[in-house]
Amino acid sequence: MLGCVIHGPGDLRVEELPVPVPGPGRALVAVRYGGVCGSDLHYWRHGGVGDFRLREPMVLGHEVVGTVVAVGDGPSEPLVGTAVAVHPATPCGVCPECADGRRNVCRDTRHLGSAARFPHVQGGFAARLAVPVRQLRPLPEGLGMRRAALAEPLSVALHALRRAGDVTGRHVLVTGAGPIGCLVVAAAKAAGAAHVTVTDLLPAALGYARGAGADTVVRADDPDDAGWPAEADAAVEASGAAAGLDTCLRRVRRGGVVVQLGMLPPGPSPFAGNLVVSREIELRGAFRFDDEFGRALDLLAAESTLDSLISAVLPVTEAEPAFALAADRSRSCKVLLDFGEG
Ligand code: ZN
Repeated sequence: MLGCVIHGPGDLRVEELPVPVPGPGRALVAVRYGGVCGSDLHYWRHGGVGDFRLREPMVLGHEVVGTVVAVGDGPSEPLVGTAVAVHPATPCGVCPECADGRRNVCRDTRHLGSAARFPHVQGGFAARLAVPVRQLRPLPEGLGMRRAALAEPLSVALHALRRAGDVTGRHVLVTGAGPIGCLVVAAAKAAGAAHVTVTDLLPAALGYARGAGADTVVRADDPDDAGWPAEADAAVEASGAAAGLDTCLRRVRRGGVVVQLGMLPPGPSPFAGNLVVSREIELRGAFRFDDEFGRALDLLAAESTLDSLISAVLPVTEAEPAFALAADRSRSCKVLLDFGEG
């Protein structure tokens, strides 16, 4: 079977890999689509993401959908032949965070395609993937696999909105209109936000944000843009740039909430900390997600407009061009790899 393996910065290879055998409690999934995530691009371009560095070759990918083709001993649901989305995380279940119901920040989690631990957890950009059965979610009625490939990043967005608190009737500012920022827009509208403003440097990205339901789009580099809100009630930083965090802190109302969702560059980040003090802004992180996955699938089943965020689908044999396309936000939003019919 073919898989996409990252060997180091700029060294992405499509390789023949052994087909895994599902052990007890695991299922073998024939992967159909895998979404290329910003973190996959970071591994490709820089050999790491955030403070996680690549130390051995790793199959990338954690936004994966496919069909169950075999089940190991133990639980047999979902049955062979079921279309599923794969929840990428296996939290340990016993650490203080897991015990506290914050499994997304589990200190000993296993996350598909992540170098956070060593040996790295191999990812899902391969034609066959063996994963714990409990990580599989059958697709709801009417949801095709292509759109379902957005379930993982949409879950990230839903979790960020949960961290922002109740936004019903509120004005939400989102900095960064990449795939995650656009899905934050959709999540904010679904959560009842009255108005969502999105900023980005790229007109193409702002166009995708419009498609996801943004009410106002703003050029981040134009302080005179008429679209800037006087004050937002909550802000979600989805660009991963310190400038985006600065914008959120300056534009949120006093006592408002800023959620840092984008992964900032490694090491210390400069930010306008005195605004956190003098305006009592609540600065919160949002990392991955936990049980938002089911809600994401239901939302995708209901929202065909989100198809507009899938800007290209390329065969796995063209993984490198697909990564290059995904990295060029002037030409793309979410790019999927297609692993074929199985
Ligand atoms: Zn844990």
